[in-house]
Parts: sequence; structure tokens; C-alpha cells
Amino acid sequence: MTFLASLNPQQREAVTHTEGPLLLLAGAGSGKTRVVVSRIAYLILEKGVAPESILGVTFTNKAAGEMRERVRCLLDEHGLSGGAMPSVSTFHSFCVRLLRRFGAPLAELRPGFATNFLVFDESDQAAVVKAACREIGSDAEGIKPKTVLGAISRAKNQNRPGTELHGKDQAESVVLNRIYQSYRKALLEANALDFDDLLLEAACLLESFDDIREALQARYRYLLVDEFQDTNRPQYEIMRLLSGRRPNVCVVGDEDQAIYSWRGADIGNILGFELDFPSAQVIRLEQNYRSTRSILKAATAVVERNKKRKGKRLWTDGPEGDRPVVFRASDGYAEARYVTREIGRLLDEDPEMRVGVLYRTNAQSRLFEEVLRQEGRDFLLVGGVAFYQRAEVKDLLAYLRVAVSPDDAVSLRRIVNVPARGIGKSTLERLHELASSEAISLRRAIEEAVDRGLLAARARTALDRFRQLMAELREQVRTDDLDSVLEWVFERTGYRNMLESDESAESRSRVENVKELIVAAREAVERGDSVEEFLDHAALVADSDGIDQAAPILLMTLHNAKGLEFPAVAMVGMEETLLPHARSLDAGEDAIEEERRLCYVGMTRARRHLWLTCAESRRQYGGGSAEPMLPSRFLGEIPEELVDDRSTSLPRDQSSHMFRTAGRWSDDTEPAPLARRSGLVATAGIETHDSVSAVAGFFKDRGIAVDLPARNSPPAAVRPPLRARRLPKSPSRHAPKLGQALKELRRQGPFARGTRVRHQKFGIGVVERREGEGPNAKLSVYFKNYGLKKLVAGYANLREV
Ligand code: ATP
Ligand code: MG
Repeated sequence: MTFLASLNPQQREAVTHTEGPLLLLAGAGSGKTRVVVSRIAYLILEKGVAPESILGVTFTNKAAGEMRERVRCLLDEHGLSGGAMPSVSTFHSFCVRLLRRFGAPLAELRPGFATNFLVFDESDQAAVVKAACREIGSDAEGIKPKTVLGAISRAKNQNRPGTELHGKDQAESVVLNRIYQSYRKALLEANALDFDDLLLEAACLLESFDDIREALQARYRYLLVDEFQDTNRPQYEIMRLLSGRRPNVCVVGDEDQAIYSWRGADIGNILGFELDFPSAQVIRLEQNYRSTRSILKAATAVVERNKKRKGKRLWTDGPEGDRPVVFRASDGYAEARYVTREIGRLLDEDPEMRVGVLYRTNAQSRLFEEVLRQEGRDFLLVGGVAFYQRAEVKDLLAYLRVAVSPDDAVSLRRIVNVPARGIGKSTLERLHELASSEAISLRRAIEEAVDRGLLAARARTALDRFRQLMAELREQVRTDDLDSVLEWVFERTGYRNMLESDESAESRSRVENVKELIVAAREAVERGDSVEEFLDHAALVADSDGIDQAAPILLMTLHNAKGLEFPAVAMVGMEETLLPHARSLDAGEDAIEEERRLCYVGMTRARRHLWLTCAESRRQYGGGSAEPMLPSRFLGEIPEELVDDRSTSLPRDQSSHMFRTAGRWSDDTEPAPLARRSGLVATAGIETHDSVSAVAGFFKDRGIAVDLPARNSPPAAVRPPLRARRLPKSPSRHAPKLGQALKELRRQGPFARGTRVRHQKFGIGVVERREGEGPNAKLSVYFKNYGLKKLVAGYANLREV
């Protein structure tokens, strides 16, 4: 087995330990993903395991695709080409397949659930929230969709579906809950699940239906989970429920690379694993095969500052390599120019070179795009506006979605007047009013308005035509191939005309995008995918999935770079408020530790070359004047002898006083390394105080206290380091196990939360809340067509169904 020979002893042990649970905990670039791939191949080739019995799960569609490809290569090499392949996918894709295939019985627990559900992605969710805010009016002013969606996601993931959301005060909580109520109604009407629902419903299905769970346990006898540190609670539960009584489950991860706690990922899952699977073998890998020694040392110096880590030391027997280059430019443009020049030099020397330019937030890409374009360099922006998020693509897909799920109000609103067909804003408002006063869906409101002659004749005619168009479309979907349906939509709705009547380059590229979508539909047809599967794919393709490996320069966020590697990496914008991000600065030490891990993830993507750059000032937050920026504390945490600091070679007036304050934001009292490095330290005095106080003011505006030295204090070099005041730690939260929470629900007796009931007038509903017990219990019941109703158990004449 040639691939076994290319593994080190620990890797080989992990690959060949196939029976029983295995936890592989290892640092960046130590070959974890390689172990997962080799293990799959080993199971098939050596142990004769049927490929269908293997399920591999990873974080992005891109990583899953790559893993499949690598397994295919190994199987091909060993003469097993063209046969069945193991299932390798993301948790979300796996759950979609699971729910479509086996989810029907869920309707017993979740009235309205149907296996032909739509998947709502983040932009669909935001559209639902925006519509709800519009409906609520002035009370919802200033509420950001992101805040609401964050609160909804937290509530769901703490296993409290249907529970209330909590805002910063009573008034905000009331509004948030009104929005949440409309959100649930819209999703139910549209027969849609959001990303959290996919996981939660799949977990619920496995938990509640023994026969389904056992059938799946029998099918997937070997489970493998890559990037385990970033799994959230429902994902963990799905894994646990699938693993069964003879758990051949292998999880691999690195606690130093946990960067998704803001999305509910729970590092506690690593601890939980050893508790749930006490017989688990734990294997550690310490040899790094990716980076040069210099890069590894610098990255380790940063992550070592984290207190919450198990503490492992990576080593490499690779070459020493060049030290990472540190550079501080005068402003954002100068930084982009510097990076472009340095990258350019490398690319000119070696055309095979690939460089990743990594930043904390998407908006930071703009300057780099501009300068790279000016210099005529080819690059690929990952995750700007991803293909399936482009307006024209979303519009055409919205037509399909309405055909599949006529009550999907998000999609309906999107297309009802695109292209313009005389259904203006005021008509739409009237329809919304009608929908809400009669508690019917938007689609029904359109029908009612036409049938009952409720609106002005012109609007009615336009709506009637639209209704006919949609009926024709449904017929098309029933009888024709998906790509032909899309072509039909493009022509018949006047969308093509709309784009072609405008001769701008922008419009031309939009036509190209639609054509590309039709090609994608053709491919789906050839694969035998259904319309729903095609729509799932569009909803699940994440930002980093479209990476074109051939582009020499890739621009992307640090989060998107997870699991990837590049010969050269430029980490840009290494400044306080960017990395660590402003949001983390007043969110306690745990948040800073997560930012530090993100920095570590970025640095360890590099194989041979690494630049760490920042700017003295930057225009932020929608323009305005340039604001002074402090170098990231993470820069200050790298001992000076480990980096090649090119900024100090700048003329003195270009080297900033503030540069020397790098590292002074850390908790420790060691002198700041970057401050020591600069030969100019002793010149700091009042000037330094002024610039530091300017920065302190900048932070103060953002609610962060900085203790400043007195005005006539000694020069920076002999002064104790500048300190940001520590904020109290946020209490750690442990979500109860999903399984337990579900069991608890069932123990609660008649009309417990989640019970499906029938009411004489309102029809079928679900109990969302029960206060008290017995006949006097107050129930909040959600009915599909009537919304939330408060009822008293003894009087409402409800029957459990
Ligand atoms: P990350 O934590 O970033 O996800 P990882 O632990 O998954 O990293 P891999 O991506 O599997 O690491 O491996 C990193 C690099 O090291 C890859 O280029 C891989 O091919 C190489 N590599 C891993 N193990 C070996 C080995 N035993 N011999 C030679 N190269 C190896
Ligand atoms: Mg990996």
C-alpha cells in the first residue's frame, strides 16, 4: 500500500486503527486531512469495506470536493476506478439528503414539514427579517437583520426552538419576538428550512425515529469528521446518533484552529467526545509538513499566548526558510501597493507561484483589487459576491422556487415586479395588508385580489397576468428539463429583454451569468438531479467553494482560508480593530483568544513565504477622514528575532510612533518586542503621548477604555506598557445536550411544547409554549394560517393529533 509508506508512524496508526472511536488532535499542517483521506482508502482497499458504508464530513463543499477527488485518485492508483464512492459532504448537505429521503415522518412532530422543502440561505433569511421589520414599521427601526438572525440562531442552537428572544431591553425584546414570529410564519408558509433547521431537524429525526436511526447506523458503519473543532452542538449530536453501538467514528481537529464559536461551534465537543466515547483512542501528530521552520516558529509564538489550549508543540524537519516579513505602511493604499509589488516580484521569478492575500473582513479586499488591477495582475476574489448570490441568478432561481413552493413570500416579492410588469410598490403594500388582515399568504392575497376585484383595474390585470405566468411556469417545471425551464423563464418573463435593452458591460455580464446558470442546470439534469436538489446546491454553495486553483493570486477572508495552503501568504490589515476585530475588543478574553486563533490559522496557511502587514492610518466605516490605526497586538507577540521587519528601514518620518506600541495591548508586562526592535524608541515623548491619546480617543468612541500614561511621563521605552482595561469575563455557557432536551420535552405531559393539536376553527397547530399545568394551563399555539394564538387548555377544546 504505497500511501501507507508515505505516512509517519502516528499517521499510520491513525489510518490503521479502524475499529472503535478515534480522536486525532493535531496542529496545523500536520496531515490530519491526509489521514482522513488515507483512512477512507485504507478501509476500502485493505479492509474490504463497501464504499457506501463510509461517511466523511467536512466543513466546506470545497473541502468535501477535494477530499472526494483525493480518495478517487488513491482508489484509481490501486486499480479500483469507476466503482462506488464513499459519501463525502458537509454536515448541511448530508442533512438535506437525509431529510429529503427519510424526513417524511417528521411531519408528525412538525406540522407543515414536507420533504420537498426549500433551503433558505443567509440572504433569504435577511429578506424575511427585512420584510417583517417593514411590516412592524417604526418600532423596528434601527434593528439590524444580522442582530435578529444571530439571536434566532442562538435560540435555536440552545435547543430552545420557539422560545423567546432577548433584546437589550424589554422594548427591543418585544420587537425581536414579533419579528421572530413573522420569520417562523414565513418559513413555514414557504415550506423552507434555514441552515440551523437543517441540522436541528436532522438531529430530531434521528433522535425520534428509532427505525430510521438504526437503518442509518447500519448503513454508515464508518464515520469520519474533519475540522471537528468547529462543529456545533447539533452537528455533534448527529454524529453521535449516527455512530450507534459500535462506534467506528474518527474525528480530527485542532483546538488552536477553532474559529467559528460566533456561529455556535463548540470547542467543548472535543472534551465531550472523550466523555461520550470513553474507549476513544487519542492520537496526536506533532510534525508539520507544510511550513518552513521560520513560519512555524512565528505562528507558534502567537498562539502560545492563548491560555485556553492544551498546549502542543509542532516541529518540522523542513528547511529554515526566510523569516516572515513585517511591514507597516503609511496608509491602506501604501500597504496594498507594497504587497502587490512584493507578490509581483515573487510571481515574476516563479510563474507557478500561488499567493493568498488574507484579511479579516470582506470589505478589506477593495484596495487590493484596485491596485492589483492597476498593475495588471490576475487574481481571484473569493466570496465577494458569490455566483449564486448575484441578483440575476437569484431572480431566476426565485422563479423556480415559487414554482416549487408557491407560498414562498421571499421569492415571490423578489420577482413579482422583476422585470417590471406594473405591480408597483403601493399594489404590493395593499397585498401585504390584505394578507395580514385575512391571515393568508401573499400568493393567496394575489388570488383574492384578482378574484374579488379588490384593487384598481390596472393592478388587477397585471396581477392576473402574473398569476397565469406562474401557472404556466409550474406546468413547465412539471413537464420540461430544468435548463429548458430556465430558458423559458429568461425569455417568457421578459428578463432577457430587460437585460439586453441596456447595453452596458454590466448588463452583458449579467446575461453571461444567466447563461452560466443554464449550463449549471443542464449539468444537474445530466446528473439526474431534481429541481429541489438543484436549488439545494445553489443555497449550500458557500463563499470559498468557487476557488479556482489556477489563479495565481487569491483574495479571501481568513475564515475562508481554513484548511487551505499556499506557497506564499500575505496577511494584511494586521491592526487593532481589524485583527483582533473591533467586535472582539470589548467581548472578553475568550473573544480575543478566538481572534488569535484566526491569526494562527492565517499564518499557518503559508508554506514558504509570509508577509504580515498593517497601515498607520486607514479610512474606515464608509469613508470620512483617515483614522490612526494601532498595529495588531498579535504582531507584537512575535519575538523580534523571528521576523524580518522591513518597516524600520523606512525614513524616520515614515516610521510611526504608534508602531512601537504594538504588543502593549497584551495582558503580560513584558516589554513589547516591536517597541524594543525600533531604534527610535527613546525619541518618544510628548509626541508619542499625543498620538497615543488620539488612538485612545478613537477606542473610547468605540467604548473601550485605555489607561494612558501621564503627559510628562518618561519615554516609551522605560514606561510600563500601555494597557487596555480588562473587561469582566463572560460566563461560559454550556448548551444542554440536544438529545436530553428532546427527551425532556416528551416527558412534559399533555400539550407540552412541540405537541401537535387540532382546533375546531384554527385547524392544526403546534404548542409553542405552555404555562402551568392541567385545565388551567395557558398555551401559545401556532397555527399555520392564523398565527400564534393564546388559549386555555380546559376551554379551547383542543385535541392532540
Ligand atoms: P490544517 O490543520 O491546516 O487543516 P492538516 O493537518 O489537515 O492541516 P494536511 O492538509 O493534511 O494537514 O497536510 C498539510 C501538508 O502536509 C499537505 O501538503 C500534505 O500533503 C503534507 N503532508 C502531510 N503528511 C505528510 C507526510 N507524512 N509526508 C509528506 N507530506 C505530508
Ligand atoms: Mg486539514
